Amino acid sequence: MDQRPVPGRTAEDATGSTAAPGDPARRPDITDARRRIPRTDALLRDPRLSAAVDRLGPQRVKAAVHQAQERARTGGIPPEQVPQTALSLLPGTAGGLRPVINATGVLLHTNLGRAPLSAAARQAVREAAGPTDVELDLTTGVRARRGRSALAALHERVPAAGAVHVVNNGAAALVLAATALAAGKEIVVSRGEMVEIGDGFRLPDLLVSTGARLREVGTTNRTTAADYAAVIGPDTGFVLKVHPSNFRITGFTRSAEPADLAGLGVPVVVDIGSGLLAPHPALPGEPDADSQLRAGAALVTASGDKLLGGPQCGLLLGRKDLVHALARHPLARALRVDKLTLAALEATLTGPSTPTALALTADPDRLAARAGRLAATLAAYGIDVRAVESAATVGGGGAPGTTLTSAALSLPEPYAAALRTGRVPVVGRLEAGRCLLDLRAVPEEDDVRLAEAVRSVAQGPAGPSAPAGTEG
Ligand SMILES: *Cc1c(COP(=O)(O)O)cnc(C)c1O
Repeated sequence: MDQRPVPGRTAEDATGSTAAPGDPARRPDITDARRRIPRTDALLRDPRLSAAVDRLGPQRVKAAVHQAQERARTGGIPPEQVPQTALSLLPGTAGGLRPVINATGVLLHTNLGRAPLSAAARQAVREAAGPTDVELDLTTGVRARRGRSALAALHERVPAAGAVHVVNNGAAALVLAATALAAGKEIVVSRGEMVEIGDGFRLPDLLVSTGARLREVGTTNRTTAADYAAVIGPDTGFVLKVHPSNFRITGFTRSAEPADLAGLGVPVVVDIGSGLLAPHPALPGEPDADSQLRAGAALVTASGDKLLGGPQCGLLLGRKDLVHALARHPLARALRVDKLTLAALEATLTGPSTPTALALTADPDRLAARAGRLAATLAAYGIDVRAVESAATVGGGGAPGTTLTSAALSLPEPYAAALRTGRVPVVGRLEAGRCLLDLRAVPEEDDVRLAEAVRSVAQGPAGPSAPAGTEG
């Protein structure tokens, strides 16, 4: 890159008189500008860029510097703007994942990483990032159970469980249960609960991959306890109940509950999906771990980053002998969670309300008031914006069919793409030819950033500036 001949560095160019005829790139004005492009080493001495090197590493910063120099060479920016442009091309963090504002109205958006962590959980993750006592008792100096305080916090929240264990995600929890309890045996499951969780992942395929066999019973819409009882035998590993967490069957339906199946003489494993630990008043149809265990489930599996509002992980809660068998199985080592997850999980369980819980219980009147305020602020800049009522959903495998009254900003459709690609990316949704920014999943403290993002789109050259001009 630095071998590239730098225009304007030759003696000829210095005279300013030798632009080749017919070569527009060498017109004196451009050549003169090129001469003023700062060199890479000089740019890296700029305190703002050297601070960026400390934060992001030299590779990223050099790449941004080269990109900015190239823009100046081709006349896209004046040479004086090279440092500023290089800075603007840098990512906010070395991690690569960009923080976004979730204005989709889907509380747990899979493509946006499901549950956002609480401030307490984020702080816990930062503190656990260095050397930490995850497997050491600092008092005695001897090895201790990995993640014992996070597990204790989980157990405390689900008193009906005899023991608890945590793995990498909900799918891993199921795989561990199937491997440890049913490899070479049968898992009895209703035909109405053969679920695809998303992106082509099907639970039946996952279960069969462990070496267990599926024994399907009942029909898509109706399965009774007698259907299960008829096939239970020495080959049965366990009965599996799967919560249809992303679809709903209504009409002529029937299904058996753990209470109906607990007496069959085999463990009843319930995959509740969403991770509610206790009943939630806003979601009466959503199963929770404690109630399922009290009703006779031997084991409950769930995700940590759905309605629990924590980090991605898989929860295993239930009978002591079963949970211990799972935790001691060789596969458990391959599915174990890291210290960051354990820290975030404990802070989620013991700390203040999670962003997910707050979004779930947000008062619709208050959401409408926020939307009204934001719309008034933005309309004052001539932006075509209205506050509208909206319907939010839980998403991410929870409470299918439930809508939550919400409020949104309604903007012209071109705002959607412009907001998504802005400096602070905002992801909204399209509805009836308008871009809606739903506030239910947006923490109130982000309202100012949200308004700024909309304003910068309205003013920006690439943004749909037309709406800003159509006042009145
Ligand atoms: C989400 C979900 C899973 C998968 O959990 P992950 O944490 O995404 O691996 C399994 N079962 C049900 C019912 C779910 O809703």
